[in-house]
Amino acid sequence: MYLIDTHAHLNDEQFAQDLDNVVARAVDTGVERIVVCGYDVPSSEQAVKIASRFNGVFATVGVHPHDAKNYDEQAHQRLVELSREDKVLAIGEIGLDFHYDLSPREDQFKVFDAQISLAWELGLPIVVHSRESNPEVMQVLSRHAGNIRGCVIHCFSGDEGLAREVLDAGFYIGIDGPITYKASQKLRRVVAMCPLDRLLIETDCPYLTPVPYRGKRNEPAYVKFIAEEIARIKEITIEELAEATSNNARIFFGGIL
Ligand SMILES: [Zn+2]
Ligand SMILES: [Zn+2]
Repeated sequence: MYLIDTHAHLNDEQFAQDLDNVVARAVDTGVERIVVCGYDVPSSEQAVKIASRFNGVFATVGVHPHDAKNYDEQAHQRLVELSREDKVLAIGEIGLDFHYDLSPREDQFKVFDAQISLAWELGLPIVVHSRESNPEVMQVLSRHAGNIRGCVIHCFSGDEGLAREVLDAGFYIGIDGPITYKASQKLRRVVAMCPLDRLLIETDCPYLTPVPYRGKRNEPAYVKFIAEEIARIKEITIEELAEATSNNARIFFGGIL
């Protein structure tokens, strides 16, 4: 079995003490590739650094909507530099977050827009975060239609209608730990209707820990539990699910994985 965790924050301080063990446990579980996602400039630098240390670990660089208020010309230039590093696969995570509104919405829109344009200039796909902002995220993305190299709506939390829109736009849907929660019937319907060749699996660790470790720190090895639940919904084996989603990740990230 060959799994890929397409969205992990090994750059979070919760992994500072035992990163080697976390990566080793992932490899032991069949998670051969991990994509570490940046969310501001320091965490993007850290993602690149971690990717350089481990064979199967890659990075994305970008500024999350939470940090949009700090995005200036200097941050932009630093992202451009980082994007040229060897193992950087995408720009992300970027997007809009109206749940926390940690940055003014005006800044969130501006910074999301600037980074979508940057990704296009660089020929890189984008990893998009959307929380309580799904219509607005889709509006911004549609303004860039034809100028997006690839897009995943990571940690998808919408309904089947939104999933249809995302699929029609040619984007991928990222599924996380909540798929293992009993209450996630809406998300199960999304997985059921989503073609197998458009699904990506991700932990978003250290957050969103799947059952049976819910409540503890999440880590890439647990992407297995997400794969198991999706395989169950799709009525296929976990090996088939692993092969399909890993193949999707290779296509999405430009075959570098
Ligand atoms: Zn996110
Ligand atoms: Zn994330």
